[in-house]
Amino acid sequence: MTLATTRVLYSDLHGLSHGKYVDSAVLDHPTHYAVTVLTQGLDLSMVEAPGFGADVGYPDMEARVDSDSRRAGWEPGIDIALADLWRTDRSERVGLDPRGALQRQVNRWTARGLEPMVGFEMEFYILERPGDGKGRLMPVSVPSHRVYAAGPGCDPSGLALEIYQRCRTAGILVEGYNGEFHPGQVEVATRYRSAVAAADDAFLFRELAHEVALERGMGVTFLARPFAEFVGSGMHLNISLTNAEGLNTFHAPADPFGLSEVCRGAIAGMLEHHEALALMGAPTVNSYKRLMPGMLSGYWANWGIDNRISTVRVPGERGSATRIEHRMADGSANPYLILAALLAAMLDGVERSLPLPEPQAGDGDAAPNTDRHTPHSLAEALDAFERDTILVDAVGADLSACLIKMKRDEWSRWNNAVTDWEHHNYGRVF
Ligand code: GLU
Ligand code: MG
Repeated sequence: MTLATTRVLYSDLHGLSHGKYVDSAVLDHPTHYAVTVLTQGLDLSMVEAPGFGADVGYPDMEARVDSDSRRAGWEPGIDIALADLWRTDRSERVGLDPRGALQRQVNRWTARGLEPMVGFEMEFYILERPGDGKGRLMPVSVPSHRVYAAGPGCDPSGLALEIYQRCRTAGILVEGYNGEFHPGQVEVATRYRSAVAAADDAFLFRELAHEVALERGMGVTFLARPFAEFVGSGMHLNISLTNAEGLNTFHAPADPFGLSEVCRGAIAGMLEHHEALALMGAPTVNSYKRLMPGMLSGYWANWGIDNRISTVRVPGERGSATRIEHRMADGSANPYLILAALLAAMLDGVERSLPLPEPQAGDGDAAPNTDRHTPHSLAEALDAFERDTILVDAVGADLSACLIKMKRDEWSRWNNAVTDWEHHNYGRVF
């Protein structure tokens, strides 16, 4: 008799997975982890987050499987399931749980009778180790590259196709993929579905893609701007709200743009919180090498009808396909946290009836219609987020405080780093 196994996964603040392999027969038993897994920077240093640190003796938390999330995995014979993080006294969810932060924002919308529906578009680069297999991972060579290729013009190694097929057998709802702008860049779209399930798909997709690439001695990167000579990789979020009958509430045929009051308020809210959203959407030092004018990447605080100079693009379809595409986040964003922050920003716009500014013109005048834009560095994004008390409260005071400390540490490590660029440009002459 073979015993079934399930891999339990949950996200940390960076959007990276942790968890355990467990006997599927005891999946209803919670598993335990030191809460420090959520307070750790990428260098493994621990942020002193009050209530989660030395002050309380680095306690445990428990991960409880969300049984609806269980599905086949990508490792042979091993299921996967997402877990929610709870305090061990079971009084409440851990405030630092990104999935919990998203669930709280979803609950605010469902209390109004509206269900957020979401699909992610994720770009990434395929990497290979040229030569003897010992060197550094580099962008894969794609001799017949072209934009929007399907097949060898995008993916001569077949890795992207294998990732896609493994997602389908794993029950990660990826609808399609194709080649993007530069050689080796691929884009996948996840199935449009309720917010937490959609964020689960995006989170799991990145894990699967890395692991399948590793099996072949290859790699993938979701870094915002992995190569200076190539365009960056976005994580665009398509969002709408359905009512109790399951109908899209964003379409209003009588409106000049075909957009309902709730859709207008939601867009206005996203623009209102534009600068602060960058911390969740563009969480690394490298992110700010993508968020620049001219990169079609969600820099300007504007919106437009099917207009890619806008951060908030409203695609042309109406009826059940009426939606907002938010283009600021990059591939390294935590899908739970950027979605939680966006839902909070949208709700603020609706609750305060913020007016919708004029759309970005699409009549040949390519100049952006605003001078507000995303911050120019992680440090500026931290300042903008800290000032935005509405988003801080929405994401949660504990989570925000921990993330801010962790990211300030990261910024200071970057400032202390000496890079190849400095050696190349200065070391040569000084
Ligand atoms: N690569 C662009 C970004 O960084 C998006 C290009 C597009 O798909 O419109 O967001
Ligand atoms: Mg794209």
